[in-house]
Amino acid sequence: MDATVIVAGGGLAGMVAALELVRGGADVLVIEKRGYPSYKVCGEYVSNEVRPYLESLGLDLEMLGAVNISTLSVTTPRGTELTQTLDSGGFGLSRFVLDHSLYQLCVAAGVRFLLHTSVAKTEEKAGWTEVYTNYGDCLKARLVIGAYGKRSVLDSRMGRDFATRPSSYMAVKYHVEFDQPDALIALHNFENGYCGISAVEDGKKCLCYLTHRSNLKKSGGSIPKMEKEILGVNPHLRRIFGTARFCYEKPLVINEISFAPKSSVENGLFMAGDAAGLITPLCGNGMAMAIHSAKILSGLVTRHLKEELTGSELAQLYRRRWQQVFGTRLRVGRMVQGAFGKSAVTEVVISLLRQFPSITGKIIALTHGEDIR
Ligand SMILES: Cc1cc2nc3c(=O)[nH]c(=O)nc-3n(C[C@H](O)[C@H](O)[C@H](O)COP(=O)(O)OP(=O)(O)OC[C@H]3O[C@@H](n4cnc5c(N)ncnc54)[C@H](O)[C@@H]3O)c2cc1C
Repeated sequence: MDATVIVAGGGLAGMVAALELVRGGADVLVIEKRGYPSYKVCGEYVSNEVRPYLESLGLDLEMLGAVNISTLSVTTPRGTELTQTLDSGGFGLSRFVLDHSLYQLCVAAGVRFLLHTSVAKTEEKAGWTEVYTNYGDCLKARLVIGAYGKRSVLDSRMGRDFATRPSSYMAVKYHVEFDQPDALIALHNFENGYCGISAVEDGKKCLCYLTHRSNLKKSGGSIPKMEKEILGVNPHLRRIFGTARFCYEKPLVINEISFAPKSSVENGLFMAGDAAGLITPLCGNGMAMAIHSAKILSGLVTRHLKEELTGSELAQLYRRRWQQVFGTRLRVGRMVQGAFGKSAVTEVVISLLRQFPSITGKIIALTHGEDIR
């Protein structure tokens, strides 16, 4: 065997799983397409439900510059605003810093990495799995974790249902300097999309939006034109795009974002994070779910490696646990996303929520979980 466990993808889910497994005594190799540190398209608001756990892993979030966030503001495309105190809240920290810090923890703990290498294909054999890289190498592992994010070549190779259908969403991200209170996360709606802005380290704000591709098409394929003519209908976004100082020359852009249900065990691979299911970014806790799913999976895999669980018991238990912990959140997330994006619907929903603030709190609670430690 080249490793007891190979983890395909070294994002949050992959690195948390690797760290837990190595600390539990396993030999773990992470294969990651890119290197560290690097920028990622993400709103960079981390729900506090995973804060104590991340700190227990060894991350000093305060020292890394994490900014506490405790208030949510949602605006409609016409600019009507709803504000709500967040019960548990969260913190802002760039993926550049967060992922790199986790990588350093993993290396110090003995996780091995193969960087700038992609997993191209896996094949399940009797008692082990073969992992083929984009360089044509074949590595063997007793168990493989799929933590490669929202969509990868592996999904199409496995014929996963969502990967056979195109998705109409794309996302764009910047770091900006803009005058907004650090404790506030604002979610500004526009026709067929929404844009979040919240603080990260070093006095910067993360500005990240999800839009239907039809908006880009209407704008002749030009992102600046789309931002001016479609996002800019919302007066809050007009002010942000008109006055913020943009820290990158060009935005980071990703395509083909799918929120369709996925399976947590597929083709002999145990999926964690977005590879098992992506919650709509509107809910602001995809990272917490990725971290939590990796914790659950690594706990069960450690028991399997100690021969306390057979392979089929492991698969059965993980599937069940994943559904119990995340099933409702994903469903509510899809429902909430349906209420935003269409201008007229958003206006009605926000004016109703302004009259019944306790409902907003309940919806937020349904898409979040208890603190994990
Ligand atoms: C627009 C947008 C905004 C968001 N905002 C927020 C937010 O504010 N808060 C929040 O909590 N969540 C947010 N999310 C969700 C969050 O980004 C994800 O849920 C989280 O990153 C999932 O972590 P992961 O480890 O599963 O995947 P990732 O962090 O995407 O990591 C996957 C890793 O796998 C690597 N990889 C991919 N394919 C391969 C391969 N074949 N071989 C090897 N490596 C591979 C990638 O390079 C990557 O490093 C947002 C999502 C979107 C789309």
